[in-house]
Formats: sequence, structure tokens, C-alpha cells
Amino acid sequence: MPRQSVVLNYYNGQWHKAETTQLLEVFNPATQDLLAHTPLSGPDEVGKAVQSALQAFPRWARTPPVERIQYLFRLKAMLEKYTDELARLIVQENGKTLAEAKGEVRRGIENVEVACGIPTLMQGYNSEDVAQGIDETVLRQPLGVVAAITPFNFPAMIPLWFLPYAIACGNTFILKPSEKVPLTAQRLFAILEEAGLPPGVVNLVNGAKETVDALLDHPQVRAVSMVGSTPVARYIYARAAANGKRVQCQAGAKNHVVIMPDADLDLAVRATTESAFGCAGQRCLAASVAVTVGSAHAPFREGIAETALALRVGYGLEEGVQMGPVITPQSKARIEGLIAQGLEEGGRAVVDGRNPRIPGYEKGNFIRPTVLEGIPLSSTLHRTEIFGPVLTLVPVNTLEEAIDLIARNPYGNAASIFTRSGAAARQFRSQVPVGNVGVNIGVPAPVAFFPFSGWKESFFGVLHGQGRDAVAFYTEQKVVIERWG
Ligand code: NAD
Repeated sequence: MPRQSVVLNYYNGQWHKAETTQLLEVFNPATQDLLAHTPLSGPDEVGKAVQSALQAFPRWARTPPVERIQYLFRLKAMLEKYTDELARLIVQENGKTLAEAKGEVRRGIENVEVACGIPTLMQGYNSEDVAQGIDETVLRQPLGVVAAITPFNFPAMIPLWFLPYAIACGNTFILKPSEKVPLTAQRLFAILEEAGLPPGVVNLVNGAKETVDALLDHPQVRAVSMVGSTPVARYIYARAAANGKRVQCQAGAKNHVVIMPDADLDLAVRATTESAFGCAGQRCLAASVAVTVGSAHAPFREGIAETALALRVGYGLEEGVQMGPVITPQSKARIEGLIAQGLEEGGRAVVDGRNPRIPGYEKGNFIRPTVLEGIPLSSTLHRTEIFGPVLTLVPVNTLEEAIDLIARNPYGNAASIFTRSGAAARQFRSQVPVGNVGVNIGVPAPVAFFPFSGWKESFFGVLHGQGRDAVAFYTEQKVVIERWG
């Protein structure tokens, strides 16, 4: 792949310069160094990528699954080999720490591993003699050309929530990565190219809204997977569905952790610190509200304030750094604005992380961990996804009150409980209306052979990403009823 300051598109098994003069600058969020430009590809470029995928489809669909997965075995080995390089690229364009970036690549590789099981995961089922001399069989077949639209916060992992399953099932695939982090996707596609996939099986188109709209409106795109913020997810879901496509959109979040009086407090503080401030709070599973029950409040408040203050914030490539910057100056301004609004609405800062000075990185988009309390439940801050390193504390008296508070939130991505009581944990997991539940877990991220669930405003669709859901999403069921004389 030629090295360019403008990232390239990939289709027909080749790298292409997008035919557009509209470019977005991509900066390192810690240093503000200019890293690259993302071309805003238009409908013509999207059309070429779809054509490439369409041409490759019939042959790829007929390639036996056992042969298709040989490419994934190679991809897995190559992702292992290039983990360090990919992780460094992620740190540079996304801002997370090197350890976090390596963890993300690992989580991506897990999905490749699971998709290698497609020969069995894709099996249908059958019944002999449904009537005299008649047999019935369900086959799973690929859909055709499918597309994924991904966010900035996991530049390697989230494309890998979709790509391995889509192509293992026999579809051909188009990725539209986040325009804020195009370099990781470009490197990923160079790795896919090295894995020797036939031309057109995987395709990459860079851009933003216009590129997405062209994919959503293209009659040959059969299915769309998307991960991003709730307003955009809702829009993509509606537009793609109106065009007759199969759609899954994983959206925004406002996650709660509940700390019971009988919790292992050290564990609860450690896990909540990691959840709220890891990846600078830019995880859709990040804890945003800590609901303390009864006597848990005072010691938890003290513990979390201490760990929040102690976290080492800086450039993710530096040794010992535990938290990096947020993605853009606009994001920093938005998050600091939300903190200010929370304080105006009656809240108090237990730890105020706004406008820190990080020596050597004065221009970076840094916010230190922030802990707020006393925020009225009716306030905007309580209903808004902050997507930054901010945790609010809400004391309640009972577990029922905690569950009710979570249920009143419009989002339903994740919630966790910290307790030593089996009965409390059981009540929580049964009653809490969210898709991913943690019990003594800070970031309840499903492994690749389980669906990445999500409810309410956090998900639009039926089948989620990963595991068996992904296989169902990327296949059509065909029922064959047979009589042989
Ligand atoms: P975003 O919604 O701004 O962008 C996501 C994708 O949609 C990008 O590829 C972008 O180019 C495209 N897009 C943006 N605006 C668009 C528009 N108006 N029309 C068409 N396409 C558009 O999200 P982001 O800021 O990149 O990512 C952060 C968000 O993603 C957070 O809300 C986070 O909670 C969410 N997220 C959710 C999950 C999940 O599994 N539920 C996982 C990761 C991130």
C-alpha cells in the first residue's frame, strides 16, 4: 500500500485515491500533530466499492465455508503479528493508552477466531418425513453485499465485530470507518490484502455523512451494521430500513453501577475507576453513574475520589500513563460544558478534572477524571451521554430504588452491581432493563461468542453484533421441502 497523507479507499483488490477535493484533517489528540487527511468520498466512490463487492459475491458465496475460513486463520495469525503496530497507530489517532489499544486488538482477534467456526455455526437443520415421503431442510445462505459504519472509539475492534462474520458467511463487505480514525482501518485493510483475500471480498470507503447516505441508498447493499451515537443510529436505522435493508445499529449509552453495602469495596472502587475513566470514558460500556445503596455511599465516595485523583493522565505511548485525551477539542469543550452545566444545575464537584495542564502536551484534548455529586435527577446531565471521564454519584436507600433509577434512563446498554449477596445479584440481573449486565464486573463486555446486547435507545434492530446473532444477521434462511417418488 503506498503511503499517502490522504488515506486511500480499497476496492477491486486495489488501493484508490478518492475522487474528491473535500478532505478532513486528522490530528493526534494528545499532541495535535497532523496525521493524515480523510477524503469525503461521494456516491461515485461508493458505487465503485459496491460494484467491486457485487462482482466478487457469486464466486465467494460458492467458495466452501471451510475454504473461506482459511483466509481468517491467516488473518488471525497476521493480526497477532501486527498487534503492536496496530496498537501504536490506535494510540496516535484515537488517544487511548497502549495497553488499552492492545486490549482492543485482542478483542478484535477474538471475533476472527469465533468466525473461524462458521462451518458449524452456519449449519441449518432438517426433518425427515414431515409428511409421508416428504423431507424439510433449512439452509443458511449469504445475503450479498453488506456494509458496516463504525465509530471512532474502537478503530480496530468494532470493524472486526462485523467483517469476519460477514465474509465467513459468504457475503462481500464494505467498511466505512470513522472519519476521525481512518489510519487503523487503512492498516487493517493492508493486512487483509496480505492475507490474500480474493479481490472485492472486502472493500473500504472513507468519508462521512454523504458516504454513509450513498451506502444506505444503494439498492445493491443488502444489510447495514452500524455503531455510533443514538441520533445517528436512529437516522441510519430508519433510512436503511426505508430502503428495504436489514439493519442493526448499536448506539449510545448511559451506564450505571450499583454499589451495595455488602460489596467488596476495593473491587467496586477499582472496577468503577477502570470503567468510568478507562479509554477516557469514551467506551459505550463506560460507567457514567455510580448508584450507592445505603452505607456504601461514604466509603465509595472517598475511595473513588482518591483513585480519580491518582490516575496518571498523559500521552498513551508513554510508559505508566493510565488515561489519554478525548478525541477532539470539540469533544473536550462539549464535555467540560456538560460538567459546568451540571454544577450550575445544583451539582458539586468531588473531583474537578477540567482544563488540566499536562506537561509536554499542553495542546492535547485532556480532561482529568471528574467526579460529581448532587446532580438533580431531572437535569440534562443525568439524561445525556457524556462520553468523557466523568462519573456522577447518586445515593439511594434500596436496591429497588437503584433499579428504578436505571429503568427511568432512556438508554439500556449496560449496568453492573457490586455485591456479595446472591439474592441481590439475582434480583438485579432479572429486573434491570439493559442488554449487558455485570455482577462484580466494571465493564460488562460480552466475549465474541456472545452477542453484544443493548436495549432501548442503545440499540435499533433485532440481531446484535458478534456470535450467533452475527451469523443470523449475515445469512438468509431458505426452507426446502422435498418429495422424491
Ligand atoms: P457518531 O454517531 O458520530 O459516528 C458513527 C459513524 O456514523 C461514523 O462512521 C460517522 O461517519 C457516521 N455518521 C456521523 N454522523 C452521521 C450522519 N449525520 N449521517 C450519517 N452518518 C453519520 O459516533 P462516534 O462519535 O464516532 O462514536 C461514539 C458513539 O458511539 C457514542 O455514542 C458511543 O456510545 C457509541 N458506541 C456504541 C457502541 C455500542 O455497541 N452500543 C460501541 C461503541 C460506541
